[in-house]
Amino acid sequence: MELTESRFKRFIFIIIDGAPYEIFKTLIENGDLPNIKKHVVDRGSLSKAISVFPSTTGPAFIPFFMGLYPGTANIPGIRWLSKSNFHIPHRFKRPGVCSYMGFDGLHFEADLPLNSPTLFDFFSPVSNIYNLLARGCPTSKNLTRWSKPFLYTYAHFSHRWRFVNQIAARRLCKAVEAGDKFVVCLFPAVDTFSHLTEIQSPQVLQTYREIDTAIGNIVHTLQKANTLQETLILITSDHGMTDTHTHIDVPQHLDEGGWRCLHYPKVWRQGTVSASMVSGNGMTHLYFKNNPIGKGWGERTPFEELHKMGVIGSLIELEGLGFVAGQSETGDILVQNRGGQGRISCRSAQTDRGNPQSVAGTFKSADALRFSYQFTGTDPLGYGVPYENLSSRDALRETYDSPYPDGIVQLWQIFKSERTGDLVLSAEKGYDLRARYEIPEHRATHGALIAEHLSIPLATNYPIAEQCIRSVDVFPTVLSLCGHNVAERHIDGRVVK
Ligand SMILES: [Zn+2]
Repeated sequence: MELTESRFKRFIFIIIDGAPYEIFKTLIENGDLPNIKKHVVDRGSLSKAISVFPSTTGPAFIPFFMGLYPGTANIPGIRWLSKSNFHIPHRFKRPGVCSYMGFDGLHFEADLPLNSPTLFDFFSPVSNIYNLLARGCPTSKNLTRWSKPFLYTYAHFSHRWRFVNQIAARRLCKAVEAGDKFVVCLFPAVDTFSHLTEIQSPQVLQTYREIDTAIGNIVHTLQKANTLQETLILITSDHGMTDTHTHIDVPQHLDEGGWRCLHYPKVWRQGTVSASMVSGNGMTHLYFKNNPIGKGWGERTPFEELHKMGVIGSLIELEGLGFVAGQSETGDILVQNRGGQGRISCRSAQTDRGNPQSVAGTFKSADALRFSYQFTGTDPLGYGVPYENLSSRDALRETYDSPYPDGIVQLWQIFKSERTGDLVLSAEKGYDLRARYEIPEHRATHGALIAEHLSIPLATNYPIAEQCIRSVDVFPTVLSLCGHNVAERHIDGRVVK
């Protein structure tokens, strides 16, 4: 790898699964996280960054480790269906239908784009703790590779997620003591306790404080070894969360509309003509069989056809549904709710007109495109103004503090994936899209395109001045700070300063 002058020789990457920006910021301001404040934020910065759609563990890790959107990486959810590969009766033959929550979790790395490097490829030695995107990490340095399935299963049934976090903290401290050049540590308990209770329950807040203590310990270790100055520390999360008061039963709604629905765990259901693949559970992909004679499910059904079938009209009547998005016959992305319809179109920064389908084959980053957004009726994304020819960065800036931050580019990127549904649904705050089979019941949600789910903290012990940052920018920014030239890489992110 080509090296340029570097500020840092080591990188410690902490992911607090499910930590919303606003809660993290308040805890810092109130003095609840004294170690992170003193050793990271006060020496560097705390910014609000924007994650990806879907804002869920798995897909939302890909930007950090590879600089790619989930749509670019063709992993558009924690569950998905590939219409071109899903064949009855061989319904479980990969890559037909997938849930990384089950055994398919073992395939997550294999499903990633083959020739794209991860952060692990740039450092040696490395250590990985609990994070599932460990491609490039030697097996012996994937410290929780064997224990994680047992620990997670044990904690799932006993709710002892604190114990799981304590093991993470111990492993983290040892890896830092050993002098590893790149250490990534995922703390799962904020997400899991939030799902079990609420996003600011005593267990959740206690978890933040315990993570802060762990940061204090590693800083102490670095100070003793006199290596704090050469170590980049970055603390972030993959998504925010909101409390949930109502579960929407999407599969039942489709069944009642006459579109018998395949969904987890009932993926063996017979005679299905639709499928719902939920993530987080604030978003879901919907697929409709449009190949009545063949064994497969055909290609993506255009939004206009689904509208004629009555699907769109039926879905937008659901209380708590933020919007339905699909792809037009023209290639544009359409967003619909009860109040109105938005249209996202993109073209190459030169002259030729492009759409997500044509862009997907050859890599063309969002920076090489221009985005427009028009709407009729009340704007379903709440921007209230149309946009013409925005660069990807301008589209981010214009929508940064809106109810659907970065919605234009995020909806564009998800439809780049062949595995994305004919329709993508995003729930409103307070609602989720899974009413059955989530055991124990989820009392908090993520996955949707709403600000509360996309806004994540980005705390670094080196100051970042840029105000508009995507999670996809972390990969090139970190590599740049550690002396790697990333200018020519085919990635969606860019270096922020
Ligand atoms: Zn979660």
